[in-house]
Amino acid sequence: MALAPEVDLGAARHDRAAFRSFVDSYVAGRADDYDREQRLPHDILAALAEHGYWGAALPTSAGGAGMDMVTLGALHEEIGRGCSSLRSLLTVHTMVAATLHRWGGERAKRCWLAELATGRRLGAFCLTEPEVGSDARAITSTARRDGADYLVDGTKKWITGGQLADLFLVFARCGEEPAAFLVEADAPGVRVEPVSDLLGTRASMLAQVHLTDVRVPAWARLGREGAGMLVLTHALDLGRYSVAAGCVGIMQACLDASVDYTGQRRQGGQPLRERQLVRRLISDMVTRLHAARLLCVRAGELKDAGDPATLMATWVAKYFASTSAMRTASDAVQLHGANGCTEGTHSVSRYFRDAKVMEIIEGSSQIQQLVIADDAYQHQPGAPGWSVVVGRRA
Ligand SMILES: Cc1cc2nc3c(=O)[nH]c(=O)nc-3n(C[C@H](O)[C@H](O)[C@H](O)COP(=O)(O)OP(=O)(O)OC[C@H]3O[C@@H](n4cnc5c(N)ncnc54)[C@H](O)[C@@H]3O)c2cc1C
Repeated sequence: MALAPEVDLGAARHDRAAFRSFVDSYVAGRADDYDREQRLPHDILAALAEHGYWGAALPTSAGGAGMDMVTLGALHEEIGRGCSSLRSLLTVHTMVAATLHRWGGERAKRCWLAELATGRRLGAFCLTEPEVGSDARAITSTARRDGADYLVDGTKKWITGGQLADLFLVFARCGEEPAAFLVEADAPGVRVEPVSDLLGTRASMLAQVHLTDVRVPAWARLGREGAGMLVLTHALDLGRYSVAAGCVGIMQACLDASVDYTGQRRQGGQPLRERQLVRRLISDMVTRLHAARLLCVRAGELKDAGDPATLMATWVAKYFASTSAMRTASDAVQLHGANGCTEGTHSVSRYFRDAKVMEIIEGSSQIQQLVIADDAYQHQPGAPGWSVVVGRRA
């Protein structure tokens, strides 16, 4: 897809104030329409390109914006505050671009990296299958060697941005282990089937992607054969971090809407905000918001420091932020009463539906609980290297 060909990345300011202003100007007022129409218009994708946000996580030497991870988290939080569907698209694209940068060979990078960095081409992440979700190791898609190429077969489901993407990062079984491949959307044998009417993130243009004997050159494999789980771990870690930050954005949007509404809505002769039980819900929203944001910043700092403890910090951040976003969105609907149950002038029903999705994607809450508890048992107090879960050195 052709988007904003001339992008002056050097001109973009990369701080929270700039991200907030971008979201307020381009996204927030239109997100309910995107949700209703179940699509993101071209102009908003082009606006992201003009601001250098598609390549935010890539270094400037690769044509990206060179943001550190804490700054990237702030960007994804702000986009998530405006529109979770757009943030979802940005998440999967960022995962594809970063995976190519980290694991791709020279030829693959030459072919696609600059295109992804500028948003001239969009990426989507293809792991889940109709019968395989949480247990990624069990994927059934296959890649079999055929001379200098692979032939890739399988079906990928629930692919965010699948209707728009030019490049799919596909995980397929190569012998015993999964491996990662970049597959062009217009390659012979690729068929994209739109998925619509989702509960939340309705504008994220999901698709089911069918792959039948798709010929993929060996240089389009990312990472070694047999190293697919490692590639996947890093890609999902970045995705999880982005989703966690997006959940903080949902919480901020819920809080802003609730403070505004309860300040104006009068019942029993006074604004709702004067009621103690209302103030209790608001105070809990504020507290969860601050805690989730701090967990995300901590995970981002550990990423910037190259500390492997970031993996667990990100699990914790995503688990807390997604479950907190759900509670906060539920409280926001509660505070809006019937007005929160409609798709009218208030966006809280969208926040509520979007928040539910966040408890399922990038590792469901149950999978996160299992991983976090496993880690706790492996690092008992007193064992070598133990301190606290999120600060522990591996
Ligand atoms: C809006 C949306 C966008 C998505 N985008 C993408 C995308 O871009 N790319 C992609 O590859 N996938 C995507 N997905 C798929 C998503 O990653 C999966 O839905 C998720 O991994 C869960 O898999 P599943 O839905 O098959 O649920 P299942 O794995 O079948 O799980 C069903 C339920 O069982 C629970 N469960 C599973 N295993 C265990 C266990 N061991 N112990 C306890 N409970 C368990 C789960 O927590 C869940 O509650 C998307 C999904 C949605 C809804």
